[in-house]
Amino acid sequence: RVSGVLHLKSIPIWTPSGQVTEKPLYQVNEALNSKVSLLRGDITRLEVDAVVNAANKTLLGGGGVDGSIHRGAGPLLKKECATLGGCETGQAKITGAYGLPAKHVIHTVGPIAQGGVSQRERDALRSCYRSCLEVGAQNQLRTVAFPCISTGVYGYPPGEAVDVALSVVREYLQEKHAQLDRVVFCVFLKSDEELYQARLPLYFPRA
Ligand code: ADP
Repeated sequence: RVSGVLHLKSIPIWTPSGQVTEKPLYQVNEALNSKVSLLRGDITRLEVDAVVNAANKTLLGGGGVDGSIHRGAGPLLKKECATLGGCETGQAKITGAYGLPAKHVIHTVGPIAQGGVSQRERDALRSCYRSCLEVGAQNQLRTVAFPCISTGVYGYPPGEAVDVALSVVREYLQEKHAQLDRVVFCVFLKSDEELYQARLPLYFPRA
């Protein structure tokens, strides 16, 4: 169904490009550095243990990355999602991935931030990333790919969302990284790729 499948082995580990001028927010930890990737492209092509879906509360499909994931997975995904009773903002639920090359889909519901971002939205977005990692761990998953949750139709400013994504993943890996081999930040837009390139060195600094 999905053409141009990208196996984990062909997703490079992230390395900084260009000069890093800002002071890192975390200490150097090469073991953690080797567990993050930045990739621009269609998340539905990734052959990883789980791709994260930026879903809505119904879990019955929508536009953006949600639409692509449901198109790629086929109608059985919606059928399974329909048994889950929806999902609250900040929570995550796992399903099969059906026609996708991934093994699972982890559905999470990001905050709607069209009126601007307050602590409430920030906490909800943090909870999305955290819940996905925890659901992944409960299911013994070793490789997980995230899209830029909430930054499309849900209106969360991408420049603020990137720090949420990177800080939660860094903290999580620091706590319990043994079980996780790779976290892929799968961005879709060139502008998001630039944001991640600029911010990653602060969260995953090199010696
Ligand atoms: P939300 O409703 O949570 O804002 P969207 O799907 O509207 O979700 O957007 C979230 C992010 O997903 C945006 O950065 C968008 O560019 C990106 N995106 C859209 N399609 C894909 C895809 N096929 N793979 C990866 N990211 C995608």
